[in-house]
Amino acid sequence: MTDEQHDERIAALDSRLAEVRERVRRACAAAGRPERDVTLLLASKAQPLPVVRAAVEAAARTPGPVLLGENRVQELVAKAPALLDLGPAWHFIGPLQSNKINAALPWVSCVESLASLELAHRLAARVPDRSAPLDVMVQVNVSGEPTKSGVAPDDALALARDVAAIDGLRLVGLMTVGARSDDEAVVASGYDRLRSLRDEVLASGAPGTASAVGLSMGMSGDLELAIAHGATVVRIGSAVFGGR
Ligand SMILES: *Cc1c(COP(=O)(O)O)cnc(C)c1O
Repeated sequence: MTDEQHDERIAALDSRLAEVRERVRRACAAAGRPERDVTLLLASKAQPLPVVRAAVEAAARTPGPVLLGENRVQELVAKAPALLDLGPAWHFIGPLQSNKINAALPWVSCVESLASLELAHRLAARVPDRSAPLDVMVQVNVSGEPTKSGVAPDDALALARDVAAIDGLRLVGLMTVGARSDDEAVVASGYDRLRSLRDEVLASGAPGTASAVGLSMGMSGDLELAIAHGATVVRIGSAVFGGR
């Protein structure tokens, strides 16, 4: 990306953010949900640091909290330290390899992409004693597409219960990447599945599951659909930053 392209993106941020906020507001109204139910997460992958910095600053001028999300540790550790002065909270939203946990952990307040018990134990082992537990979400592959990460829906309840019981972790919900389909009904049924799984986790009453209320689902193209089906976090990249 050239400096000029940076500048164009930066100049567009306030209006793009306002548009996304308006979409969230309308979707919440249509679903009869309060707007504060839904948190905006800016997926900053492949965006250069000056653009991400400007986005955090622009977001601070809008009402409501904003999170940042990265799906690569390499990008996280390049950006998070450089934005410390602005103090944004980062969620990790991509596949996390064991050998990158140490690098990632100091910068993230939540790992949304937890899909194995092994990774859960490895994460917990790195959370310092007496410090607050690390927030995690279990990522579920609701569409079953082989290219997508996440635990199979049939295994999600068991994994969520096991994760919730681990000291050092706090299960705060479930996450999914919606089906890659133009058929809204297909995408919607995946989001419904995630919501019923979340409801099952809560209804299980198992230790540590009471905090698992969150549903991270929906992106630039379908945030309205996700909010209609119960999303509490929508992860937005291109609608705020432009294409990658
Ligand atoms: C990139 C990314 C997003 C945002 O996608 P857009 O379509 O650009 O809004 C959301 N979630 C994950 C896991 C991503 O990697």
